Amino acid sequence: MRPYISFKGVTKSFGAFKVLDDFDFEVRKGEKVALIGPSGSGKSTVLRILMTLEPFQEGQVTLDGVNYHLPDGAGRFRADERHLSEIRQYVGMVFQQFNLFPHMTVLRNIVHAPMAVLRMKRADAEDRARKLLAMVGLADREGHFPDQLSGGQKQRVAIARALAMRPRVLLFDEPTSALDPEMVNEVLNVIRSLADEHDLTMILVTHEMGFARDVADRVCFFDRGKIVEQGLPETVLYRPAHPRTKAFLSSLLHHSGSLPEPSPEPSPEPLRMPKVLSR
Ligand code: ADP
Ligand code: MG
Repeated sequence: MRPYISFKGVTKSFGAFKVLDDFDFEVRKGEKVALIGPSGSGKSTVLRILMTLEPFQEGQVTLDGVNYHLPDGAGRFRADERHLSEIRQYVGMVFQQFNLFPHMTVLRNIVHAPMAVLRMKRADAEDRARKLLAMVGLADREGHFPDQLSGGQKQRVAIARALAMRPRVLLFDEPTSALDPEMVNEVLNVIRSLADEHDLTMILVTHEMGFARDVADRVCFFDRGKIVEQGLPETVLYRPAHPRTKAFLSSLLHHSGSLPEPSPEPSPEPLRMPKVLSR
């Protein structure tokens, strides 16, 4: 079966520095993949390329068979903005720093892109935004501004905002790294409930190894622009084969104790998932 997302021989450089060198990566439709690895190893760059935020120099990236760079016969060129913005409609991204619009209320943050890009009517966009806010447990916050919310609440708004575009692929770049520890779980629980959506393809960069083990179908360990080891979470996280993976995991354990035991019921009150993701 054709992979849903594919990187083939991708090279990405910043000046003389090669972040990705002949990089290959494939994701199946509906698969949940966790990317782990040291800072600077290229994890965010992979997500940013998929989100069309970064051009690359060589190789091929496709999403559902659609090529990011249209071939021009002789070689490749960066696709025009219209082509990229079409691709971008299928991809949602949640950033470490939330990236909410500070001058817009929670509700307006969520309806902005569906109205501007998908040309949804305001009433329909608001109706859907309210369902999404209820899903992330923030039904009573629609009139608030971002700076009136906690970090965990902001990140839940950011997740609702990404879902409002009905993405087929959802990317998370260290979604809990900027949060105070007591807010990490409320965000992880929302992401866990999304992971139960079979059709939604998810790629998560995270340092939360217990979370990666719970939600991911596959864990990929990055080192210096390559995936040096990948496989089932239990294998990569508990029985890593590559010395770099072992060193990385033991340095994490050194800081945070041991990998937590699998939690029997991660979300005490399971979130109700409305059928918001079907297109
Ligand atoms: P990770 O997410 O794994 O920490 P990144 O993909 O963010 O790694 O970055 C990989 C490398 O690329 C890092 O060494 C980083 O400094 C470099 N890099 C990322 N973005 C830029 C940029 N805009 N200009 C120059 N170097 C960059
Ligand atoms: Mg990063």
